[in-house]
Amino acid sequence: MFSGFRQGRHQRIGYRYGALRSHPTKCIHTRATEYLQAKDPDMTESQRTVREAIAKICSKYPDEYWARKDETHEFPLDLHGDLARDGWLGICMPQEYGGSELGISEAAVMMQTISESGAGMNGASSVHMNIFGLEPVVKFGTEEQKERWLVPLIKGEERACFGVTEPNTGLDTLKLQSFARRDGDYYILKGSKIWISTAKSADKILILVRTTPLGKVNKPSHGLSLFYTDMDRSQVEVTEIPKMGRAAVDSNMLFFDGWKVPATDLLGKEGNGFKMVMQGMNAERILLGAEALGLGYAALRRTAQYAKDRVVFGRPIGQNQGIQHPLADSWMKLEAARLVVYQAARMYDEGYATGEYANAGKYLAAEAAFEACERAVLAHGGMGYAKEYHIERYFREAMLPRIAPVSREMIYNYIGEKVLGLPRSY
Ligand SMILES: Cc1cc2nc3c(=O)[nH]c(=O)nc-3n(C[C@H](O)[C@H](O)[C@H](O)COP(=O)(O)OP(=O)(O)OC[C@H]3O[C@@H](n4cnc5c(N)ncnc54)[C@H](O)[C@@H]3O)c2cc1C
Repeated sequence: MFSGFRQGRHQRIGYRYGALRSHPTKCIHTRATEYLQAKDPDMTESQRTVREAIAKICSKYPDEYWARKDETHEFPLDLHGDLARDGWLGICMPQEYGGSELGISEAAVMMQTISESGAGMNGASSVHMNIFGLEPVVKFGTEEQKERWLVPLIKGEERACFGVTEPNTGLDTLKLQSFARRDGDYYILKGSKIWISTAKSADKILILVRTTPLGKVNKPSHGLSLFYTDMDRSQVEVTEIPKMGRAAVDSNMLFFDGWKVPATDLLGKEGNGFKMVMQGMNAERILLGAEALGLGYAALRRTAQYAKDRVVFGRPIGQNQGIQHPLADSWMKLEAARLVVYQAARMYDEGYATGEYANAGKYLAAEAAFEACERAVLAHGGMGYAKEYHIERYFREAMLPRIAPVSREMIYNYIGEKVLGLPRSY
């Protein structure tokens, strides 16, 4: 065991310094980006173009880069900058504001490819909000607002965060307690939010708050309003939450009492916020599903390579069916999930507004990715637990798509009620 480890280490060092460059398949330290497939048979021409271009950008950022960012809790500004420079942050945004006006089908390829490169959720979450998050602005903003907000976001000059979840109400979004009171040309906001990603450094926030008390509206979904405004840390207390993984991208608790937000930062009509925020939800689930797939494929690829190279009891561990079969099973499960995720994306792009496929795709991809990452850790044996092999980082990150932006249980609830017609259970 010990001598095998020493042999592996020797190989890795040789590879890093060029000795094994002509035999990359012999290298235990496979880089995800060297093995990105561009030729999935069912990809459209534009999806393939996105895949190749994003893979090329990501190849500048190897797994070691992401391990370091995760360790040091540093936001990956350089990847964000590269994607902005080449116009990718506006992949789904209208052309008149600098976007490319492609669909969620292409954006999903972009997010899967980032994640699959080894960047995982750290890489994907650094741009995630750009891709879907300002959909309500695209759909409901005035001309002046779109010009003011979309242009700098697409250029990468401003970064945005998304504030919905609250500590006291969790998934019961309609009961959220943060409140905005109109005062002349301003709204005064009071309340708290939790888990808000990137709030430590974001320039803007899209935030959902109540403007009419729950007791005074006909339906609980009424009376909520959406603002897109400066993430003004002189008025909002931001406290980072220490967490399990994806540490390069901060998640935060927000507290505000007397936060003055200009009335010109209200999006659409007061009280219509929930309807607007729902616009982006299905797209977000599709993208999260694609990000999860990327993690699963990255774990699988590294593990297949490791299982070929690692010799124990006189043969590669991948020759044992106990190692080989679970990996084959994971590939099939990831592929099945991929078909649903991209089916949901295509339907979304064609105007389908109901959420069963977006939810199912996100659920299936998250579960398949988690299982693939768990099997990857186990197939690596002790090395699965070592940071050096990156699998443990994927495994930690693979928990996230199972929890956010919506939990597994809420997806079961949705399918049970909306597809199967069963009584609402909550
Ligand atoms: C790393 C990270 C980043 C995030 N980023 C953001 C962000 O940028 N912006 C943002 O607004 N939010 C963000 N979130 C929040 C995320 O969307 C929520 O954590 C998620 O929606 C779950 O909500 P909760 O944590 O309040 O769970 P809770 O609502 O407390 O639920 C806890 C558990 O109970 C289950 N449960 C609750 N009610 C029912 C029911 N009726 N039936 C069955 N099961 C039920 C849930 O499924 C879950 O398993 C992030 C979360 C994480 C972990």
